[in-house]
Amino acid sequence: MHSAHNKSQRLNRAEGIKLIQEMPLGQLMRRAHEIRMQYHPAARVTYICDTNPNYTNVCTTRCRFCAFWLANGSRDAYTLSPAQLAERISSAARVGATTVLLQGGHNPRMMLTDWLAYIQAIQTAVPDIHIHPFGPAEISFMAENEAITTQAILQQLWDIGIRTLPGGGAEVLSDRVRSAIAPKKCSSQRWLEVMSQAHRIGFKTTATLMYGHLERPEDIIDHLLALRNLQDQTGGFQSFIPWSFKPGKTPLGRRIRQTASAQTYLRIIAVARLMLDNFSHIQSSWFSEERQTGQLGLLAGADDFGGLLIEESVLDTAGHSHTISIQELEQDIRAMGFKPVRRDSCYQCMAS
Ligand code: SF4
Repeated sequence: MHSAHNKSQRLNRAEGIKLIQEMPLGQLMRRAHEIRMQYHPAARVTYICDTNPNYTNVCTTRCRFCAFWLANGSRDAYTLSPAQLAERISSAARVGATTVLLQGGHNPRMMLTDWLAYIQAIQTAVPDIHIHPFGPAEISFMAENEAITTQAILQQLWDIGIRTLPGGGAEVLSDRVRSAIAPKKCSSQRWLEVMSQAHRIGFKTTATLMYGHLERPEDIIDHLLALRNLQDQTGGFQSFIPWSFKPGKTPLGRRIRQTASAQTYLRIIAVARLMLDNFSHIQSSWFSEERQTGQLGLLAGADDFGGLLIEESVLDTAGHSHTISIQELEQDIRAMGFKPVRRDSCYQCMAS
């Protein structure tokens, strides 16, 4: 892990807002790429072979940007049994998945014992796979559902061998924005608090941003500053992963019909690399934006190309779906002048 820049040279809020709004894109990308090459001098780009099964689509949080959730009892509502989940993950492992990103809806009928049963079933069926389960919003929901603390849940996950957690559910860490797009989801403060607790136990996590809806540029900068601030305290974030809101069939899509532009994505990647001077990895994804936009992100400060995503259903339901082979993914990386390297969930490179 690189050391943070001299703090007196850090970009402040006003500078961040200026960069994201005004700096010409070419200049911004060049500056971010220079810093990326200082942090990671080898011309390598990492990626991971992962699978992302959603264990339930029943959700009472009903975010307005999401088309995935269904009410309990709906015709297509499902909740996988531990055996069904383990079978899906075994299938993904057979075609090369080394990590399972395990997330699902906020289903009030599920209890902590159900989560633990999932993990035990996976550990038994596919002992070598790395399990990367449950983001802060899910943990916060489970804590309320169980009437226990998030700290107690995190400790139980740690005790059964979980070591990394995804940073989903951050959306934009602004309560003004959250109350409009996801009023029932945990607050910004809560998201940061669960992350802080997790890092202090020893978990490594990612941090995310979902933009392109009702946020203003200053909300994105405040989001980055909140992440940087927590990272100063804990050092537990491994990477930053942004993606744009996909209007598709979502309720919010009736108001916002367009996906944010490729230029916006590249600006966010670049500004994140410049502002998050205490983050080692910035991800540009072949999946969440168009493939070519993901590739350009590798010249805007990103050093990671995300996951192969053998199974992904949330964006699929919003009408955003595509797949890629390992060969295609590696070719996309090579085409930008980098050597593709497979990594694990702790951002360690794996022997090819
Ligand atoms: S984003 Fe997650 S929490 Fe929100 S409605 Fe969809 S499944 Fe539920």
